[in-house]
Amino acid sequence: MPSESAKDTVFDDPYRPDEEFARRLDVEDPLRAYRERFHIPRASDGREVIYLAGNSLGLQPRGVRKIVEQELDDWARFGVDAHFKGRTPWYSYHEVFRETGARLVGALPGEVVMMNSLTINLHLMMATFYRPTSDRYKIMVDAPGFPSDTYAVKTQLRHHGYDPDDALISLEARPGEHGIRMGDIEAALDEHGRQTALVLLSGVNFFTGQLFDMQRVTALAQRQGCAVGLDLAHAAGNVVLTLHDWNVDFAVWCSYKYLNSGPGAVAGCFVHQRHGSDASLPRLAGWWGNDPDTRFRMHLQPEFVPRLGADGWQISNPPILAMAPLQASLAIFDEATMPALRAKSLRLTGYLHHLLDRIPSKRFEVITPSDPAGRGCQLSILAHHKPAELFHSLESQGVVGDFREPNVIRVAPVPLYNTFHDVWSFAQVLVGQ
Ligand SMILES: *Cc1c(COP(=O)(O)O)cnc(C)c1O
Repeated sequence: MPSESAKDTVFDDPYRPDEEFARRLDVEDPLRAYRERFHIPRASDGREVIYLAGNSLGLQPRGVRKIVEQELDDWARFGVDAHFKGRTPWYSYHEVFRETGARLVGALPGEVVMMNSLTINLHLMMATFYRPTSDRYKIMVDAPGFPSDTYAVKTQLRHHGYDPDDALISLEARPGEHGIRMGDIEAALDEHGRQTALVLLSGVNFFTGQLFDMQRVTALAQRQGCAVGLDLAHAAGNVVLTLHDWNVDFAVWCSYKYLNSGPGAVAGCFVHQRHGSDASLPRLAGWWGNDPDTRFRMHLQPEFVPRLGADGWQISNPPILAMAPLQASLAIFDEATMPALRAKSLRLTGYLHHLLDRIPSKRFEVITPSDPAGRGCQLSILAHHKPAELFHSLESQGVVGDFREPNVIRVAPVPLYNTFHDVWSFAQVLVGQ
């Protein structure tokens, strides 16, 4: 066996560099038909772009328009009565995602609710799960942090009277490395765990693409008495999650990246059953988190009675027009299933990694972990020389990726609508640089 095939464990055959090989992988792909369920943007020359930005904004499922139009029609036909007479009654609209939302992240029905946007959900969850005391008040996060999370965490600390310089612990890669070592996370928990109220970990880091061992970090952090929250913005719809069994306290994610539910789509929130069943947990409440049987008693019901489960953290009545696309999108995930999507993703990103590895250019390097178990769809390419120019040149040749200052280009072939040929074409464009 050539050494190549031993290294690329996701394939039976060694990779070959030619176009025909990419075409063959597409023919053999059991999920290839899903691409037809999405609108693929075209470049000005009329050709479909090489869309590798599903980690930033996923493409539109073709089924979305009909579902949104249905809500517009029901509003036109029924007015306020669509709350109960609509084809998907608005009063209980969020319940449509009880099963599909839970299956997506490995939760029990009732542990997941789709509501608000990601950063809002993060604040709401911290209102409940970041309960600092004088000896346990720190928050531990992975670096680099997504700015919105960093602002949320720092303002929560200040809101409770703590100084982020003291109370924010960042898990970092060692100098010259890009991934954070598990051993370093363990050491940080040993050192700071007993003063840490909350560990807030990305499932997949937005910048490096590193996939963390969420189960292990959760267990270690909880052994130290910390609450554990996950930001799954780059993990939901990307990797297989089993949040209930991992015993995570809470998790939040957005739906416009890998979940293809449209710009600003309604986000997800997981609260573990052992907390969801505790009506006494402090929270920031609004009427939609109240028991639905008494919700419309309005001023006759001044005491908040939380609905059990994650639903009890809802605040406002849901934005139906923004929520409708989730139906189309989550139905696709439910049908394709995360294990099958992940199996293709390992091949797709493995192929991309292999092709990039073969390019002799010293202009760039991949900073995402090379171990497939340590990453999701995304590869982050650090450009050593004129990164912005490189990115614009890729763009002009039909590649849609994204650029993160100062020098990282992120590309994420996704298993629902990207092809092996997309990956091969991207590598061709990069070779020509
Ligand atoms: C995309 C992303 C966000 C975006 O937050 P919104 O509230 O949806 O605007 C926040 N955090 C992380 C880690 C992200 O990747």
